[in-house]
Amino acid sequence: MSAALCWFRRNLRLDDNATLAAALRFADAVVPVFVLDPEPTGDVSPRRLAVLSDSLCELDASLRARGSRLVVRNGPAAAALPVLCRETGADAVFAHRDHEPHPKTQNAAAAVALGAIGAKLHLVEDLHLVPAGALSSGDGRPYTVFTPFSRRWLERDKEPPVPEPARVPTPDAALAPSFASLPPETVRGVGETGAPREPRGGAREAQRLWDAFRGGALLRYARERDRPDLPGTSRLSPHLRVGTIGVRRLLAEARATWKDASANGKASVETFIKELAWREFYAGILETFPRVAAQNFRPEFDRFPWAAGGEAERRFAAWSAGRTGYPIVDAGMRQLLGEGWMHNRVRMVAASFLTKDLLVDWRKGEAFFLRHLADGDVASNNGGWQWTAGTGTDAAPYFRIFNPVSQGRRFDPDGAYVRRWVPELARVPDAHVHEPWSMPPDVQATAGCVVGRDYPAPIVDHAFARDRALAAYAVVKRD
Ligand SMILES: Cc1cc2nc3c(=O)[nH]c(=O)nc-3n(C[C@H](O)[C@H](O)[C@H](O)COP(=O)(O)OP(=O)(O)OC[C@H]3O[C@@H](n4cnc5c(N)ncnc54)[C@H](O)[C@@H]3O)c2cc1C
Repeated sequence: MSAALCWFRRNLRLDDNATLAAALRFADAVVPVFVLDPEPTGDVSPRRLAVLSDSLCELDASLRARGSRLVVRNGPAAAALPVLCRETGADAVFAHRDHEPHPKTQNAAAAVALGAIGAKLHLVEDLHLVPAGALSSGDGRPYTVFTPFSRRWLERDKEPPVPEPARVPTPDAALAPSFASLPPETVRGVGETGAPREPRGGAREAQRLWDAFRGGALLRYARERDRPDLPGTSRLSPHLRVGTIGVRRLLAEARATWKDASANGKASVETFIKELAWREFYAGILETFPRVAAQNFRPEFDRFPWAAGGEAERRFAAWSAGRTGYPIVDAGMRQLLGEGWMHNRVRMVAASFLTKDLLVDWRKGEAFFLRHLADGDVASNNGGWQWTAGTGTDAAPYFRIFNPVSQGRRFDPDGAYVRRWVPELARVPDAHVHEPWSMPPDVQATAGCVVGRDYPAPIVDHAFARDRALAAYAVVKRD
C-alpha cells in the first residue's frame, strides 16, 4: 500500500483542495500534516494565529469525520517531514507551490531533505486561479501594471473547483492514538498575547461569510465596496490568507451569481472578480521580483529623504495609536488595533498619510500592518504599501496624495465610520466630523470634543504636508 503526506499550509480546507486531491490520486493512503514553523521574524499578528488555530482545529475534525486526522508536528519542515515519512512509510509529500520568500526556502530545504531519504516533494498550484508569475506581456516581459495584467488574467482559462473527498484513507500507524501529534490549538501559543476571538477562522466560518456576501453585498459591490461605513465587502481576506475557502470555488460561484444578476449586479460581480485579480497580481510581483519584500520596486526611491530619528518616531507613534488628529486615519488605525482588519479604502488613506503627509518610510507601516492584521499577507500588503507610497508597480503617480478630509467626506458621508471607531467624535456635527478643528469653540464645547484636549489637533497641516512631500519627491525626479 503506497502512502503520501499532504502538507497543509495555506490551504486549510477539504473542499477545492488541489494538493489533497493530487495526493489522493497518487497514493493509496494519505497522512495530512501541518508543520509548526514560525515565520523567521516572528512578526505574526495574534489574530492571524487565532484564525490559524481555529482553522487547524476544524480541519482536524473534518478529517476525522472522513476517517483521517491532522498530524501536527514542530518544524523545521525539512526535519519533520522526513521523520514522518519514515514513521508512516510515505515516499512522497504533496504541498502547494508558494510565491513568498520564506515558504520557498522551506520548500527548497524540504525537497533536499526528502531526497536524501528517497522521497519526493510534489508542488501543486493551489493558492491562485492563475499561477503566480505565469502571465507575461506580448514581448515576454512580466506585467508590472495591473490593467493589462487583469485583461490577460480574465481571458485565461481557469480550473474548476476540486470536489471535496468523501473519505481520506490514512495509514493505521498515523491513526493510532499514541501517534505523536501536537494539539492543533498549540499554534496559539506561538503568539505573544492572549487569544482574540474575532475574526474566527475555519472553513465553516469562511462559507458563512461567503454565503452572506453572495446573497447581498456582492450585487452592490461596485457601488459600496469603497464605503467603510457599510458592510460592503466580503471580509474573506483572513480566510483567503489561510485558505479556508478556495479561490476556484469563489470564482465558480461568483460566475453563477453573475448569470442571474441584473446589469448592475453583473457589473458588481465583475468588479469583485477583478479584486481577486489584484491579489494574484501582487503574488506575481513577489514571485517575479522577490526583492520587493525589502526594497522599493522603483530603485529611484532609494534616495527618497524619509523622515528619520526622533521626529520620525514621534510621527509614527501618533499614527500607530490612531492619534493623528485626522478622523478617517485615526478610525482606520483604531479599527486595525480593535479588529485586526481595516477597510481597503481606509488602508490606502492611512498608508498615504504615513508615507506622504508624515514622510515615514513605507516599510515601517508595512511591518506594523503585518503585526496587527488578521489577513496579513506578504504580497498584498507589500503591494498595497508600495502602490500607495508611489514606490511600487502600477501607475499610481507619486503626486497622488490622498486628502484625508475629502476622502472622509466622500466615503464616510455621515461620519458613521469615524464615530464608531473614534468615540471622542460621537457628538460632533456632521459638517465637522472629518475636520473637527473647524468647529468653533462653543460647538466644540457642546459636542464634548475640545480639540487638543479630548481629541488631538492635527499632527500636521495637510496642505503644508502635501507641498513638503512634493518637494521631497523632487529628489527622486532629479536625473
Ligand atoms: C496598504 C495596504 C495594505 C494591504 N494589506 C493587505 C494584506 O496584508 N492582506 C490582504 O489580504 N490584503 C491587503 N490589502 C488589500 C485589501 O485592503 C484587502 O484585501 C481587503 O481590504 C480585504 O477585505 P475583504 O476581504 O472584505 O475584501 P473584498 O473587497 O471582499 O475583496 C475580496 C478579496 O479580494 C482580494 N483583494 C481585494 N482588494 C485587494 C487589493 N487591493 N490587493 C490585493 N488583494 C485584494 C482580497 O483577497 C480580498 O479578500 C492591503 C491594501 C492596502 C492599500
